[in-house]
Amino acid sequence: MFLYIGVSRFKERSSEIMSGIPLDAGKVVYVLGAGFSIPAGAPTQAQILGDILELDGWNAKVTDAKTRLEAFLINDLRISRNDIPQIALEDVYTPIDRCIADGTAFKSKNAADLKQIREDLGYLISVAISRRITKRLNFGDADGSYIHAFAEYIVAKAAKRAELAKNAKDSSLAKAYDPLAIISLNWDILLDNAIHSALHDRDPVIEGDYDPFGVVDYCCYISSVDAGDMRMRSGLWSLGCRGYNVKLLKLHGSMNWLQCPNCQRLFVQYGLKEEILERVGDTCCRHCLKSGYENPLAGSLVMPTFLKDLTNFQVKLVWQNAGVELMEAKHLVFIGYSLPNADFEFRQLLSRMVHQNATIEVVLRKGDSDEDIRRYETTKERYRQFFGDRQTVFHSNGVTDFVGKHVAL
Ligand SMILES: [Zn+2]
Repeated sequence: MFLYIGVSRFKERSSEIMSGIPLDAGKVVYVLGAGFSIPAGAPTQAQILGDILELDGWNAKVTDAKTRLEAFLINDLRISRNDIPQIALEDVYTPIDRCIADGTAFKSKNAADLKQIREDLGYLISVAISRRITKRLNFGDADGSYIHAFAEYIVAKAAKRAELAKNAKDSSLAKAYDPLAIISLNWDILLDNAIHSALHDRDPVIEGDYDPFGVVDYCCYISSVDAGDMRMRSGLWSLGCRGYNVKLLKLHGSMNWLQCPNCQRLFVQYGLKEEILERVGDTCCRHCLKSGYENPLAGSLVMPTFLKDLTNFQVKLVWQNAGVELMEAKHLVFIGYSLPNADFEFRQLLSRMVHQNATIEVVLRKGDSDEDIRRYETTKERYRQFFGDRQTVFHSNGVTDFVGKHVAL
């Protein structure tokens, strides 16, 4: 399997033609935005509030959360119901977060009410994303096979480290092999599940804790939700067992992460999002329980707000590790990410950490309508200005085309 990046950049900058240089030439960091998951059924951020309004018949938890959220949007934010689907999530979160940070009320809502609404919205976002993906996959108007192809490619590449470590007395070759990392700004777990399943396929049977298999490495401290899950182990533990890790750094948290509000441990589960979501608020931290404390696990998403709270210990670790990966990258491949100004924390991380000689590749979808084309050109220009004189190549046919053409078994 080979993945190539363009050499045309050496002849003409911002070319859309691809040929030639194997990415084996240095570390590759993939940066994934919402556009990575959209062809597999995920919503754009702009569709989420509209999707939330349409949620019904799920369960009482959804109904209660939705009722509280709608009352806040209509009575306190004074948004008309018809306009709610057009409102940016930042415009809902930012006033809530400002008041929580300042300890002030927002009209009739005190800080405790606002925290409740914030939790409601986080839960509803996860449910809405999960619902849309399931619906689109069921109707056949989405296809996640490119995500599996991408995951298999990534896992095959990462697994070479285990081959280098096998029976070796000297660890230097295996240690030096660090070909890639993925930084994702998405909450959905399509890729997480695909990587987890590709790892499982490579090592279907595990006999002991020291078996050299591969793991998804979120680059922070994780535990399994249920005790005794042998496949859930940290990346470092896996490397110490002569296995390998697939680094997946989720800067905005993940729908399969649950966090204990007391000990701050992060619990991870793969599989159906619906089942994971049902554990929010119901499953208690099994470590705290041993000490006699009942702490129901909470969701762990970093919300779209102009006042992002990145003080969470685990999230901080992910951001710090992402900075290191960006610094070490020889090539950066942005897929389905528009580099918006609202992501100013990530933009500053990029501008602080990306090597001056790194080459940049950007995979976007140009689309057909005038508006789509205008948006594509604006995004392209934003990248060009941001990365200055670094060599940059653009692909305009979207992620499915990119993976189909440039990631092949
Ligand atoms: Zn705990």
